[in-house]
Amino acid sequence: MADDFFHREMELFIDHRVDWVRYFRLSRPEPVNAVEEVETYKAILRTAADVCEDIAATAPGQWREEVTLVDGRVVVPPHIAAGYERLRAAGLVCLTLSPTYNGFGLPLVLNSYFLEMVARADASLMTIVGLQTGTAQDIEKYGTEDLRQRYLPRFARGEIQGCMDLTEAQAGSDLGGIVTRATEEHGRYFIDGEKIFITNGGADVHLVLARDASTFDQSRGTTNGLSLLLCPVNLPDGTRNGVRVARVESKLGIHGSPTCVIEFDHAEAFLLGERGAGFRAMLDLMNAARLGVAAQAIGIAEAAYREARAYAAQRVQFGGPILEQPLIKNLLTSMIINIQSARAFLYRTCALIDLTEALRTYLSSDRSAQDPDRARLQQQLDDNAHLIRFFTPLCKYYATEISNDVTRKGIQVHGGIGYMADTPAGHYHSDSIITTIYEGTSEIQASFALKEMAKGALFTALEQTRAELEHLRQEFPEPVEQVCVGIHWITEAVSSLLADPQYALLNAKRICKMVVDVVIAAELLLQANLSEAKRELATTFIHRRMLAVEMNARRIRAGDASRIKRYDRILGLADGGT
Ligand SMILES: Cc1cc2nc3c(=O)[nH]c(=O)nc-3n(C[C@H](O)[C@H](O)[C@H](O)COP(=O)(O)OP(=O)(O)OC[C@H]3O[C@@H](n4cnc5c(N)ncnc54)[C@H](O)[C@@H]3O)c2cc1C
Repeated sequence: MADDFFHREMELFIDHRVDWVRYFRLSRPEPVNAVEEVETYKAILRTAADVCEDIAATAPGQWREEVTLVDGRVVVPPHIAAGYERLRAAGLVCLTLSPTYNGFGLPLVLNSYFLEMVARADASLMTIVGLQTGTAQDIEKYGTEDLRQRYLPRFARGEIQGCMDLTEAQAGSDLGGIVTRATEEHGRYFIDGEKIFITNGGADVHLVLARDASTFDQSRGTTNGLSLLLCPVNLPDGTRNGVRVARVESKLGIHGSPTCVIEFDHAEAFLLGERGAGFRAMLDLMNAARLGVAAQAIGIAEAAYREARAYAAQRVQFGGPILEQPLIKNLLTSMIINIQSARAFLYRTCALIDLTEALRTYLSSDRSAQDPDRARLQQQLDDNAHLIRFFTPLCKYYATEISNDVTRKGIQVHGGIGYMADTPAGHYHSDSIITTIYEGTSEIQASFALKEMAKGALFTALEQTRAELEHLRQEFPEPVEQVCVGIHWITEAVSSLLADPQYALLNAKRICKMVVDVVIAAELLLQANLSEAKRELATTFIHRRMLAVEMNARRIRAGDASRIKRYDRILGLADGGT
């Protein structure tokens, strides 16, 4: 059964879609036996699968238990504490942290498998576990050696936990609105202000984005002048710092995940990275968290699909299981296509990030000094970095939106019982909803991706997709042609968007969806030979989605920015009303 959590699709991707030999050659100074190394990774994932299977067996029934605040202390429900302890005891927190600080240095793609498994077992627990990797990695990347030594080994052992404090009442999507203040006094930093909606806000270490007091007025309203600071609840000398959890929120879903209001009252903190340039450093953490949320969304969707599939097989109506009804088959097929396509995109993006990091390591090492291929590799690194900035928001956007859709369909397959408060189907849906909101809403992901498209990432992505398809043309002539037509429709649509940024923004989600569809189509074709089911999946996906790409392109081409004026009239905004 544990094999089932570390499922076949994960293993196929590791075995066939990652160039491990190249990855290790670039990332490690010493020669590595790639097969043995990958086997070690698989062993870690199998252990994780065993633990997640146990957690999943006991999680239902406790899902509605809320986090409480007792004497200023955040208390998570017992099943969350027990789940975390199971993972911690097995050494399974902070898997990507470097071995220098006692981590496993696990590649990102494998960490996303891990997060998917945890989320499938318990989405609330995943919010806590998922934060640890990103928090620790930001300290590793931007902290002084003293901070690293002080905190990272304890993160790796799971003795301390972290959280990420960005949002304020007036600064949600727009972090330029941050007014929490960081004041420097004789070389020490102190934070004053209030953060809201902080996941795992009872943690020992807060990574806080705060506005530097020395440039407060000039930088206000922008993301310039923000510093990233590490604010511990207990100071290194053991005294209590001025950080307080003022409230924990009651929510629609992920009840076991603490969501807190945090007050900073002249709390001492330590600078991470450059003063006033913290937004860039926080982006690293946010990008890692976005991919983590994509994995979480897929994990929840997988759980919902399995529940619905099992229910459909045993629920009898009109003399047979409802699974025999074509409409139910269609619902379940849509669910699984959505899940597997989101997974293909996430794994591909994470593997690209791993390879790019390996390239970066190689190019910054002495080993590359005499490499005649150095310039080409540097170009590859730059192109990849561009693609990653484009694909990361797209992954988050796509995986979380499909998760909302899949979990909603899961309720539909269950009929009335799916709407009952204590059944899993409804629970998965209410847990899934947050994924399209936190770490940047879907609208924000789509607008980020649009910005990257305008900087040329779209053409790099389409060129790469075209090149991949050419290799597949002989084997899969018809689907390849359909995807090429899809690419053609995208280029047609983009020309209608270029002229007007407002019209482009209005269509940001639509164009993102079209790009995601063609990139995933190529990836699914690359996987099509791995099994009969994969081949069917690829052709069905392409058949369905290339029609949608064409329809979306026609819709974009048929309009212009006057559409926004029409919406204003519908909304009663035409006369300047609100
Ligand atoms: C359960 C939970 C956990 C969270 N955990 C954390 C955490 O650990 N740390 C942290 O710092 N924050 C956290 N957050 C905050 C979360 O990241 C924000 O709620 C989110 O970024 C949206 O901000 P907002 O709620 O202020 O919505 P708003 O920014 O007010 O957005 C409202 C609506 O307007 C849309 N919108 C806003 N701007 C634009 C635009 N330019 N274009 C198009 N549409 C736009 C949004 O998409 C949304 O639909 C959490 C939130 C929740 C609910």
